[in-house]
Amino acid sequence: MARRILITGASIAGNTAAWWLGRHGFDVTVVERAPAFRDGGQNVDVRGVGREALRRMGLERAALEAGTGEEGTAWVDGRGRAVARFGLDGAAGDGPTAEMEILRGDLARLLYVPARERAQYRFGDHLVRLDEEGDGVRVGFASGAVARYDAVIVAEGVGSATRERVFPGENVPRWMGLTIAYFTIPSTPDDDRDWRWFNATGGRGISLRPDRHGTTRAMLMLRQPPGGEQDWDAARQKAYLRDRFADAGWQAGRVLAGLETTDDFYVDVLRQVRMTRWSSGRVVLTGDAAWCATPLAGIGTTLAVTGATVLAGALAHTDDVAAAFAEYEHALRPFVEKGQGVPRIAPKLMNPRTRLGIALLHGALRIASQPAVRRLGAKFSGGRTGEPDLARYATPVTQPPPHRP
Ligand SMILES: Cc1cc2nc3c(=O)[nH]c(=O)nc-3n(C[C@H](O)[C@H](O)[C@H](O)COP(=O)(O)OP(=O)(O)OC[C@H]3O[C@@H](n4cnc5c(N)ncnc54)[C@H](O)[C@@H]3O)c2cc1C
Repeated sequence: MARRILITGASIAGNTAAWWLGRHGFDVTVVERAPAFRDGGQNVDVRGVGREALRRMGLERAALEAGTGEEGTAWVDGRGRAVARFGLDGAAGDGPTAEMEILRGDLARLLYVPARERAQYRFGDHLVRLDEEGDGVRVGFASGAVARYDAVIVAEGVGSATRERVFPGENVPRWMGLTIAYFTIPSTPDDDRDWRWFNATGGRGISLRPDRHGTTRAMLMLRQPPGGEQDWDAARQKAYLRDRFADAGWQAGRVLAGLETTDDFYVDVLRQVRMTRWSSGRVVLTGDAAWCATPLAGIGTTLAVTGATVLAGALAHTDDVAAAFAEYEHALRPFVEKGQGVPRIAPKLMNPRTRLGIALLHGALRIASQPAVRRLGAKFSGGRTGEPDLARYATPVTQPPPHRP
């Protein structure tokens, strides 16, 4: 009989795990707290081994076609003039804009649609009880349902409640000193295909990014110690942002006007999830719930796709769940630790408080954006070290045609 797996969370990691486990012949249920599939979210990118995982799923082309069409990243001054620009070219796509830039919701849907052909999805429910029972886990849901599974995969994102239930006190978060609000606003004719980034004094930043939906994706960034803003209700969060950004300059007025009407609003107080282990008995963490690296690392979605692929492959190798979890952790740790290695000073450098700090940042970016400097940076960046070998975990869905001499 196929082993029964419960996945909690239907975003990037959860849908990727469901896709692979369904292929491997498992009996898969996905439970998502939101009442329906969540389409929202802003620009994320997928690079290196994450793209390879999508390629092996036969989804790489579709993901590129669904991309936002972003062509580069430009830091702009108060009048919108670019002071430094990183195009897609050079440095093997390691700049701020990757070749595969896609909206979180679009990527999640691309994974969800084929995954649901081989997995059952339950929306509007979540786990409230979890008891290890011999060689399985007995799970109680908020809806009152009770069921037994051979393993539970927790893919609930950075604020995972199940992680806190199963591993109480074990996450020692690394707060990054940065709060970001993401939301969608109407586009205007002068919006181009670049990610435009404006620094205002006081450690504030505004950025605008293109999409393919006829709208523009806005970010408001605040360099400050964490104040629990992620748990405020949306009305309080918006009032706070209005107050902090009213005099920021550049396109602050337009962005704050868009804040009033947006129906896609997400606030994140950036913190890395740091766990010394990712599994306990038959429960395992993956994606941001296990190791959130924060958007500063620029690798969260790559890690989520890759981690879920490796986890599913490891489970398919053996009937021994503990051995599969150990293999998964062994294969992923070096890659995750490399991804989490964001220098503590990075949020400060990228969000200066003073005019002088902003001028120094712009000067440094101008130098760093030169092609020769980018090539040098790419050479010393460590390349793809630590990436797991997907050949062991993910057989491509379409094999290349056989070679005929
Ligand atoms: C709505 C949304 C918008 C986002 N927007 C951005 C963005 O603009 N930029 C960016 O860089 N990153 C964004 N992220 C985060 C980004 O998706 C992740 O960093 C990364 O892709 C890893 O994905 P994940 O699947 O591990 O976690 P997440 O994408 O965070 O997904 C976790 C999923 O679990 C669900 N969930 C949470 N708790 C429970 C529970 N107890 N039971 C069942 N389900 C639960 C959530 O509703 C969500 O669908 C967003 C995430 C979400 C959920």
